Amino acid sequence: MLQQTQVSRVLLKYGEFLERFPTLESLARARPARVMDAWNGLGYYARARNLHRLAKSVARDGDGEAVLPNDPAGLRALPGVGAYTAGAVASFAFERRAALVDTNVARVLRRVFAPGVDATRGAGQRALWALATALLPRTGRTTYIHNQALMELGALVCTARIRHCDRCPVRAVCATYAANDS
Ligand code: SF4
Repeated sequence: MLQQTQVSRVLLKYGEFLERFPTLESLARARPARVMDAWNGLGYYARARNLHRLAKSVARDGDGEAVLPNDPAGLRALPGVGAYTAGAVASFAFERRAALVDTNVARVLRRVFAPGVDATRGAGQRALWALATALLPRTGRTTYIHNQALMELGALVCTARIRHCDRCPVRAVCATYAANDS
């Protein structure tokens, strides 16, 4: 729901959607029109179609115990799941040792370690994913905290609009800070 949609708009729909479809099985069984109706107001309906297909694919054997794969590769194989979503679900839902790079994390990694990298190009994105992977802590539990912290840093401190270097916890190792502010 959060792909290209603000949190405030998603919050209005998220609880309601879960009330209508509390399990992957209930979503898998639903008629497409009912899923679209529950998605009404969020736009970008390809997400709803993908989510419906995803539920059907994991609930296929009908044993009532559909669960998502817990690793990034398994998650990537599902409809509508990209690299970031796979990493986020593996890390935050299953506490797996998985990297994730969204816009905020990409900005932080670039500014701290690789100011010369162009994150709009494929090679730059691959370099940032490699950095994110190399930085992972040793355990899944610590990775959960590490990934949350990286996202928060990008959302609240090292933002697209302004760099709050004066209160940044990674200032001492930041290449951008060293180049511009020291
Ligand atoms: S020191 Fe400044 S540029 Fe570096 S990560 Fe922190 S806020 Fe961003």
